[in-house]
Amino acid sequence: MTARDVAVRADEADLRLVRFLWCGNDGTVRAKASARHGLEGRLETGIGLTVAMQAMNSLDQLQPVEGMGPVGEVRLVPDLDTFRILPYAPNTGAVLTDHIALDGDPAPVCQRSFLKRMESMLAKRGLVLRASFENEFSLATWDGVEYVPVDSGLCFSTISMTPSQDYVDALVAALDAQEIVLEQYYAELGHGQQEISTGHAPALQAADEQLLVRETIRGVAAQQGLVASLAPKPWPENAGNGGHVHFSLWDGTRNRFHDSAAPDSLSAEARSFIAGVLAHLPGLCGLAAPSFNSYHRIVPQYWAGAFVCWGHDNREAPVRVASVFRGLEEASTNAELKACDASCNPYLAVGGLIAAGLDGLARELEPPEPVEVDPATIPDDERARRGIVRLPATQAEALDALEGDPVLMAALGPTLAESYLAVRRSEWTAYAAADEPFEQRGHFLKY
Ligand code: GLU
Ligand code: MG
Repeated sequence: MTARDVAVRADEADLRLVRFLWCGNDGTVRAKASARHGLEGRLETGIGLTVAMQAMNSLDQLQPVEGMGPVGEVRLVPDLDTFRILPYAPNTGAVLTDHIALDGDPAPVCQRSFLKRMESMLAKRGLVLRASFENEFSLATWDGVEYVPVDSGLCFSTISMTPSQDYVDALVAALDAQEIVLEQYYAELGHGQQEISTGHAPALQAADEQLLVRETIRGVAAQQGLVASLAPKPWPENAGNGGHVHFSLWDGTRNRFHDSAAPDSLSAEARSFIAGVLAHLPGLCGLAAPSFNSYHRIVPQYWAGAFVCWGHDNREAPVRVASVFRGLEEASTNAELKACDASCNPYLAVGGLIAAGLDGLARELEPPEPVEVDPATIPDDERARRGIVRLPATQAEALDALEGDPVLMAALGPTLAESYLAVRRSEWTAYAAADEPFEQRGHFLKY
């Protein structure tokens, strides 16, 4: 698609604004919008943005990061193939963007370019990571004092579907209009909790779509006077919202995770990739479950996976290998990272997943024994002997694990790693010093 093609489509749809979206180190989605006047030029050369934005945390507190102060510009340069007409905002379209330095190269901080780098490392092995996100989120109203879930019904209950059905119908239509493939919807366990899963796609497309899905979930809710939140733990006493990532490696139309001769269908490559993910899981949490609120979700026995392990159909394992579907064995062979939520920057989470898996492939790692029970029920001494350690229990621990992981740090590169850690650590400082209502408000409306 060329800038001219996008402009023609914008005119056909009577667009007045096109949002240039990005997701920062704080995991929030932000945008600058171009008017119709000058649109083609901005689609070609981008919109200017202060270099400081990548040092901004999710409380709009600017962090002192070298080179990310008041002086200096990057360009938000769109990937034109990501253009969408937004069904939930009047006469508005959107594109996803890279952060491009003034010399025309990707800025070292650009998260989307980081994911592209990881994809090209995989491509050297002839592999493409396909990923899909399963987003859980909470639908609520604001009663003037607090957010109230729209239902108090049971898990997967049809009675819980009723209060949300008009919203969900509009959501499905909005996803469809953006050519985002929806697989399933249901009312999840928590009060007001919903879940949608979208189709798998090559890593970059999956991460782009994750941002569009997050925007759509919230945008459609706002149109209906509702509030939708993908915060990892929207209410302290209610179920957490996961943003599980299903992943597999492909080579053309062949799923390289699949081996029909293996009892669990997993190929040697899949095992090594998974072993790499497990080896780096504590640090990966710093990218995939990165907010203060994330660690009120990742607790034992809430089906979020709180111990470093993998298992077959084990929903207490942060890496779950789901049973294949009979008749669709190859197509359905995949693993799921549960230690991920929608407060992450999806480019960093998926890029980190690739970096971890690549290390497993390079070292031909073998995963430890799978855990086929709830790991919290294994006696402490046996857990210790088997190396089934607790995942980070706080945002601070996750960020320390990330900083202590040379593979993930090298993959990010110094500028991205330094700014990311500064931003996320400043959130820890702010929320650790405040109370629970401040944490809830701080995450509910931002993710
Ligand atoms: N809500 C759980 C989480 O926080 C996941 C429940 C499930 O779908 O297995 O990840
Ligand atoms: Mg679920």
